[in-house]
Amino acid sequence: MTAFWAEPDFDAHETVTLVHDRASGLTAIIAVHSTHLGPSAGGTRFWHYGDPAHAMRDALRLSRGMSYKNAMAGLPMGGGKAVILADANRTKTPEMLAAFGDAVEALGGRYVTAEDVGISEADMVAVSQRTAHVSGLPVEGAGSAGGDPGPFTAYGIYLGIRQAVAHQLGRDSLAGVHVAVQGTGSVGGGVARLLARDGAKLTLADINEARAAALATELGGVAVASDAIMSTPCDVFSPNALGAILDDTGIAALDCAIVAGGANNQLARPAHGTALAARGILYAPDYVINAGGIISVATEYLARREGRIGDVAEVNALVEQIPGRLESIWATSKATGETADVVADRMAQKLIGRG
Ligand code: NAD
Repeated sequence: MTAFWAEPDFDAHETVTLVHDRASGLTAIIAVHSTHLGPSAGGTRFWHYGDPAHAMRDALRLSRGMSYKNAMAGLPMGGGKAVILADANRTKTPEMLAAFGDAVEALGGRYVTAEDVGISEADMVAVSQRTAHVSGLPVEGAGSAGGDPGPFTAYGIYLGIRQAVAHQLGRDSLAGVHVAVQGTGSVGGGVARLLARDGAKLTLADINEARAAALATELGGVAVASDAIMSTPCDVFSPNALGAILDDTGIAALDCAIVAGGANNQLARPAHGTALAARGILYAPDYVINAGGIISVATEYLARREGRIGDVAEVNALVEQIPGRLESIWATSKATGETADVVADRMAQKLIGRG
């Protein structure tokens, strides 16, 4: 057997907990990558993995990603992630969620959970019956932090696009700036609405074509087929759907000056950061520009721990620091000749004491 520590995705994770609860049938992995900056935070993914090794890989990769994201968001939180290994029918019972809550509680606050793919707000409410180390719970009144993180993610991306346009195009307004938005869901739809308010020219695409068309009509933009969005001539390409879209083919297709969007893990491989830079395209590292959601989730949790309710103004003030972080990444990138993604990773590693 290969030593677990030699796994390519193992990155000196502090602990990796394998959970099995015979009574409920729960099988889960909780990976704590780093608690250097505070309790490790990251959502729980509920997914049917054909091969449990893929579940481990997801837990290891995603928890490290959360360390970087939380550090670069300026949060006093480390990085962690849980995956629950669903069966082929994706059976999810109250007993499983209770057992999962017990497993989180047993970590004594070193890991704070929230929603991710396959886990709903109602699921988190169930988990919160067994542990206080939960976020992403329903909002507790108008103006309070919490609830759907999508709008905060969208706000951070909009601010990041504004900064990128100022940096790369020397324009201090989005009026007339052409943005091609891939994915018009919670994040992409929110970004498009904010851009439209500033007079940006929008081209939108979604595999749900009716959704993109309706938004285009609402905002005065144009909808195109989802396989045409990456090659749309524009100023900014904003990916807000899938990861790994910046591969050899995707990058060759781009006809833009900037890539700035919320999708996680946009670069198919690290070398694609170099390929983007070689084409003179400014890249906003995904986990820096899309941190608005985790900022909301963390603010909610930290406030609750202090016995108060976090508010939206607190969240927005932190989200508004995203453009400054991007600017310092681009400035360092220019000074050192390293690509923006490499600079961001190095900054994050330094912040978590691994630089
Ligand atoms: P969502 O499910 O609300 O929206 C995704 C949209 O993308 C859907 O409308 C879907 O039809 C569309 N889509 C899927 N494949 C597509 C394709 N090939 N071409 C065009 N459109 C396609 O999800 P979301 O919450 O808006 O998240 C979007 C992305 O942002 C994801 O990568 C997610 O991981 C990332 N993200 C989200 C948040 C958040 O707060 N929701 C935070 C950080 C990162």
